[in-house]
Amino acid sequence: MATGLDELFYRIEALEGSLGDGFEAKYSRLVGLERYPDEVEQINTAVRGYFARLELPDHVTPYDQMILGLREKDAIFTFNWDPFLLQALRRCSGVAKPPSVHFLHGCVAVALCGECKVRSNAGLPCPRCGKAMEPSQLLFPVTDKDYDSDPVILGEWNALRNALDDAYFVTIFGYSAPVTDVAARKILIDTFSSNKFREMAEVEIIDIRERAVIEETWSDFYFSHHYGIFDSFEHSQIHRHFRRSCDAFAMASLQCHPVPENTPAGITEIGKLQEYARPLFREEQADVKFWDGHVNPFGG
Ligand SMILES: [Zn+2]
Repeated sequence: MATGLDELFYRIEALEGSLGDGFEAKYSRLVGLERYPDEVEQINTAVRGYFARLELPDHVTPYDQMILGLREKDAIFTFNWDPFLLQALRRCSGVAKPPSVHFLHGCVAVALCGECKVRSNAGLPCPRCGKAMEPSQLLFPVTDKDYDSDPVILGEWNALRNALDDAYFVTIFGYSAPVTDVAARKILIDTFSSNKFREMAEVEIIDIRERAVIEETWSDFYFSHHYGIFDSFEHSQIHRHFRRSCDAFAMASLQCHPVPENTPAGITEIGKLQEYARPLFREEQADVKFWDGHVNPFGG
């Protein structure tokens, strides 16, 4: 992470010995030592500043493809603090009703008005009372994260519970369920296990690690063989069946009628991606499908 904190960690490790491998482990250990409150504060400020400055490149990214490739009924949950999803939401707006977006560890681009219970973009006044808003809490990578004490974070986790409780298609993208996320892992597995449709639902994992490692990480989450593992977002159901991920999966698995893929592969301009999504949104409004009349390759 380019936050210029290497030196700080070197200095403390010279005194304390290794704090662990990687930022999360080091940070967690440093907080646990309880002797370095100033250094912890310095890290928190540097991390916030670093993430707040990040900006999406001008071309189409998986963030844009998720925002336009999913629908109002869908939800995106992220553990990341960066502002990428909100930037994608802004530049892809005006085409279709977007999926809801939730930040399970907080986000540097979100601010809150405690009085009005409103959340909005950081740097803007409260849209209801006009007063300055507080930056949202960020949950730092300590092993023992508390998901319940901050009402905003709790609300995001409750939204995840609601979504997983009747989810039909779950895509896990770039989340390795690290050991520092014991509580998160448990909530994901427990909630999805009680989903009535889990035996029909599909889980898709986009991860570049060894297949055996991924299976070991997630085998408690998915049902039987109802999962797929891919090494890039281009292979995801969201990308191959743009705005039709669940519909296409239902056609293939319940109707035994796989429908043609419809993917924005090769589109690099935001405006072109918007044009690609627009007729699909119109189709949704009209309650028709471009594959109506498609001949079932299995003759059904
Ligand atoms: Zn307010």
